[in-house]
Amino acid sequence: MGHKVNKNWKISTMCVHGAGGYDKATGAVGKPIYQTSTFAFESARAGAEIFLGEREGYVYTRISNPTQEAFEKEMAFLEGGEAALAFGSGMAAISGVIMSLCKNGDNVVSSDTLYGGSHQLFTETLPRWDIQVREVDGTDCRNIADAIDKKTRAIYIETPANPTMSLIDIEQCAAIAHKHGIPLIVDNTFPTPYFQQPLKLGADVVVHSATKYIGGHGDTVAGVAIGKKDFIDELRMGILRDMGGIISPLNAWLLVRGLKTLAIRMERHQENAMQIAKYLQFHPKVNSVFYPGLTTHPQHALAKKQMSGFGGMISFEVKGGRKAGETLMNSVELITLAVSLGDVDSLIEHPGSMTHSTYAPEDLAAVGITEGLVRLSVGIEDPKDIINDLSQALNKIN
Ligand SMILES: *Cc1c(COP(=O)(O)O)cnc(C)c1O
Repeated sequence: MGHKVNKNWKISTMCVHGAGGYDKATGAVGKPIYQTSTFAFESARAGAEIFLGEREGYVYTRISNPTQEAFEKEMAFLEGGEAALAFGSGMAAISGVIMSLCKNGDNVVSSDTLYGGSHQLFTETLPRWDIQVREVDGTDCRNIADAIDKKTRAIYIETPANPTMSLIDIEQCAAIAHKHGIPLIVDNTFPTPYFQQPLKLGADVVVHSATKYIGGHGDTVAGVAIGKKDFIDELRMGILRDMGGIISPLNAWLLVRGLKTLAIRMERHQENAMQIAKYLQFHPKVNSVFYPGLTTHPQHALAKKQMSGFGGMISFEVKGGRKAGETLMNSVELITLAVSLGDVDSLIEHPGSMTHSTYAPEDLAAVGITEGLVRLSVGIEDPKDIINDLSQALNKIN
């Protein structure tokens, strides 16, 4: 009949077929959207047995739903994990994973260059429940090891980091975590499983903002966590069920659909990003370009070791600081001035005043988010058109 999931498939095949089988009820080849809140039980006894966990079955969409499950299965498959759990946003996945591991008085050691929302969660929101997150420079793993104490419940890293494109050695962090008997959590949003598979490098949990490359079309907000089955089951029946940060069936369906083209999208994002990074590198209005694929990136060797490609995100510093950056962003015609990333459309933004405005000004400078730093999510348009647009906009800077 075909369409039978095989663990030996190459990743581009997994992207197309990883959600597995046809719909059992109808044979539908496209995954149906099970747009329902509740599921009828065969009998009172069957209902009671499902509640007790003695029988497989669906109860209520806050706990599970076949469309959500199709997305979860595929993500687990792509990341090489045992199980996955979808959430209503990347932040719901990240906060859910941390809350499931910590209680008041505990702490987490994290890298210091993070998505602005994660930084806000770690430094403002979680401390209200006395969960402290110690943010340290993770580009040197010794800083992470030094910050661990008896109350540390996890290590959390983002690599490549949003928006500086600095990298952290996943294998080294995993070794440190396991020496202390705690899990390593990796935010894999930027590279996606197509270019980086943290679980295979020793990480225990992977989280994503599926809003970005996983969905890929800028039409949905979603998140996902992948890890061991026991951990994911606990997360589902604990934090997800009780806090309720679930994904809708329609959004889960959009992600399954998005994943089908993940491989070819990521290839094109990367090809375009490489050309644009090389173009920007020698532009007289640009001070520096941060892209792991450039041999000038200080961690290019680590990128080659732990990633199979360098992705589609670039940041660069324009000469003339904030004012020059504003001129550039106000002058683009093809590229859209907007936050978010990983869409088929190219997007440009200013981290210092937008996605990373949750950092205190002195902390921004300390992690390398300068006034003139611009973040570009390179889309899949023709690279010549993107370069022409950047060229005309950079020329407007005096
Ligand atoms: C966007 C983003 C998040 C947050 O995800 P949402 O889907 O917006 O909640 C987390 N981590 C990274 C790296 C991101 O880019």
